Amino acid sequence: MKLHEYQSKSIFAKYGIPIPKGRVAATASEARNIAEELGSRVVIKSQVLVGGRGKAGGIKLAKNPHEAEEVATLILGMEIKGLPVRKVLVDEAANINKEIYLGITNDRAARKPVMMCSAAGGVEIEEVARLTPEKIIRVHIDPLLGLRDYQARDIAAAIDLPRDHWRTFGQIANGLWLAYNDCDATLAEINPLVITSDNRLLALDGKMLIDDNALFRHSDLAEMRDLDAEAPSEIEARKYGLSFIKLDGNIGCMVNGAGLAMTTMDIIKLFGGEPANFLDIGGGAAADKVAAALRIILADANVKAVLFNIFGGITRCDEVARGVLTAMEEVKPKVPMVVRLVGTNAEEGRNLLANANMITAKTLADAAKKAVAAAKGG
Ligand code: GDP
Ligand code: MN
Repeated sequence: MKLHEYQSKSIFAKYGIPIPKGRVAATASEARNIAEELGSRVVIKSQVLVGGRGKAGGIKLAKNPHEAEEVATLILGMEIKGLPVRKVLVDEAANINKEIYLGITNDRAARKPVMMCSAAGGVEIEEVARLTPEKIIRVHIDPLLGLRDYQARDIAAAIDLPRDHWRTFGQIANGLWLAYNDCDATLAEINPLVITSDNRLLALDGKMLIDDNALFRHSDLAEMRDLDAEAPSEIEARKYGLSFIKLDGNIGCMVNGAGLAMTTMDIIKLFGGEPANFLDIGGGAAADKVAAALRIILADANVKAVLFNIFGGITRCDEVARGVLTAMEEVKPKVPMVVRLVGTNAEEGRNLLANANMITAKTLADAAKKAVAAAKGG
């Protein structure tokens, strides 16, 4: 789950990380009021769950409350990378001398969190990572020991941070680590962490990703989920307990089991196709869940064929077939569907689908080939 900038920064603040004064607004007149309260130059920041808002024109300075209202009107009317802006953060503007990058994520290969830091922070950090990766310092954190003071000092030295900031930098780095760890985050990032013209360290931007699988023990974080800001298909899938991730290809996949779903995607690619989604309907999926899954797949206009790959263990093939038939009555699919059913009650399942005009396959390879051909219109 992605958190908005204002949510991430409010968490950072609880961990002693200095952030600018400011509040979130849903209308331009609210933005004006906040700017009046702050009584300074402000920055109006679109709250959408994508990066690169600055480059997209979603971050703008305003000199006075009147200008704040104008700029907020403009930004609240924008769409950034397909996401409508529904809220803006109105922050006291900072005068920036230097932009630093500081982030923590999981390093799966090292099986540890890794803190990353760069003196070349700001909106070009992706370019820095691509072209001059040596400018990004990496330090692994032992989850049992936490971030050690010497590690924070090593980082400060490596990015040539002036000495007078080391103490505060250490507190910020440690706060970020604690926030990351306590919230079960998969990413906690400050970009930029700035040195202001009056020589303070300040977290101007904040980003956190929370592990969905840990949300059950963070009801306060779970409540922060912004349903307006997520793909409708993924919200619908979550409602039915389906693991669904939308992808860019044109072959919809309905599979039971995460491993089988990955294999199915691999085999589609092997035969020259592109999966439109990852979807695991889970074990023991009943007809209504299957129907929901098919509705979600077919709602994607890119989908030119659907591949069902069901191994009936706990999930019974006849239940899946019934779900497919229910969904087909509702959504009247116009795309070809290829089905491979194996396992418990497979025969019964196949019989149910026999009249439904579906392409059947005996093996997974056979099914993938047929789906790729079907998606190409052959
Ligand atoms: P992002 O583009 O989505 O990462 O949004 P950021 O919050 O990081 O803002 C992008 C850029 O806008 C920053 O790197 C800064 O250069 C600039 N910016 C953001 N806030 C301020 C501010 O208070 N004052 C000034 N002068 N620039 C700002
Ligand atoms: Mn940023």
